[in-house]
Amino acid sequence: MGRGRYCARQLTALVRKFLDDRTFLPVNPYGDWNQSMLIDEDLSLDINLYLQEIGKDVSAKKVVSFLAREEVKQKHGITKAISERTARRYLNALGYRFRTAKKGQYADGHEREDVVYYRDHTFLPQWKALEARMENWSKENEKEHGPRPDGKTVISWFNDECIFYANDRTPRGWYHKDSPAKPYTKGEGVSLMIGEFVSAKFGWLQSPDGKQSARIIMKPGKNRDGYMTADDIVNQANRAMDILTEWYPEYEHIFIYDNAPTHLKRPDGSLSARRMPKNIPKEGHNWGVEVTKRDNTGNLVHLPDGTTAKEKIKMGNACFADGTPQALYFPEGHPRASVFKGMAYILEECGLVKESKLRAECKNFKCAPPAIDCCCRRVLYNQPDFTHIPTILENACNTRGFRLIYLPKFHCELNFIEQCWGYAKRIYRLNPPSSKEEVLEKYALAALDSISLAQMRRFSNRSQKFMDAYVKGLNGRQAAWAARKYKGHRVLPDSLMDDLEKAKIT
Ligand SMILES: [Zn+2]
Repeated sequence: MGRGRYCARQLTALVRKFLDDRTFLPVNPYGDWNQSMLIDEDLSLDINLYLQEIGKDVSAKKVVSFLAREEVKQKHGITKAISERTARRYLNALGYRFRTAKKGQYADGHEREDVVYYRDHTFLPQWKALEARMENWSKENEKEHGPRPDGKTVISWFNDECIFYANDRTPRGWYHKDSPAKPYTKGEGVSLMIGEFVSAKFGWLQSPDGKQSARIIMKPGKNRDGYMTADDIVNQANRAMDILTEWYPEYEHIFIYDNAPTHLKRPDGSLSARRMPKNIPKEGHNWGVEVTKRDNTGNLVHLPDGTTAKEKIKMGNACFADGTPQALYFPEGHPRASVFKGMAYILEECGLVKESKLRAECKNFKCAPPAIDCCCRRVLYNQPDFTHIPTILENACNTRGFRLIYLPKFHCELNFIEQCWGYAKRIYRLNPPSSKEEVLEKYALAALDSISLAQMRRFSNRSQKFMDAYVKGLNGRQAAWAARKYKGHRVLPDSLMDDLEKAKIT
């Protein structure tokens, strides 16, 4: 690193202490910055104003030249120039951190009422019911407590996709730690999408010899592999279930998915109040669901111009409170046989006469909470038979005896595969530049393979801290604080990681 013996000895001592005690971390690697010029509040204020003025292109060099300006030197009585190293220390002291532009972890919706409701009333109860049968590992990678003897051990497999970009090579700079997240710009060079499952017990989902895996690798975009479809997702789940059934039948496997639209797709013609008209369609008209046409073997039908053919089908039956089916179309013998009944008629049939007189929908179906009986569409939408429609993916898993749990929206901190992606990308960025596709794939896969099982377990533990916090009733911000106090997930402080990266030490 171009430093002298003293530094080397200090580092050796730190490493030895760290090996003895993994919680031992240097508290302030930047020494006594508070003894520096920054004690001078006027000066730090001026530096801050200057940094705000130059906006996002903050650098240590600029701080050096700012402090070398004649008027600044005179005003603050500075006699000698500072080094770039010192400038970096100042920047740290002023709250700047050298890192990649941050992608906002907490999207606005994290604490939204409906999201929290789903988290507390659907997700967490499902998770808690299984938790007692899951295994845990300490931060020293030792099994903390095994599962209770009743029932099979539960293995939870977290699913997600991640995109690697060919030109993604340490685009780092100084950003204030409180600066808002920069919008994520897509499409820097060719890209590669990887879909995976991960568990704290086994790591990536694969057979013991590593020959079979549930990994999806595709080149997203037009004229390449297209985009991930609901079919791709189901195929991947089936491959995962094949492997788990063959190699790990002694466990109970649970899949954890996020709320991506491809994961939530319901079978064509499934019950949905979204587009229903309120009234019976006029003479000569009917209402149905437009779907992509498939031939008898299930393949898409293409029109001469290359687009996929569409067709209108009838929506499936609803259900009365006693469980008997409720047809949405008038029966044979009725003057309007086969014609859609309309929301008002459907509600009336259920005995919801008062509700059937409501307006069709609130503007753009954005009903004011607590939306229960404001409009026909909302009433229908909240009917039990309309709310519990299994997704294609759930059907595929449930028919083979596997359970699936959907994460609450915006809660990526609960999915520890996200941290695996983050780790892999840090490793990936250290590679020499290349825009070749085969190189991109090689580097991306090598980066994924570089994550040790012990590291994955640390990530998993961290997500577990969030789970625990939500179970205790904390909100997102409080949960983040609770998880931050937990040191096991962080092996090295960020500042040291940066130095190692610059020195190309992995
Ligand atoms: Zn409404």
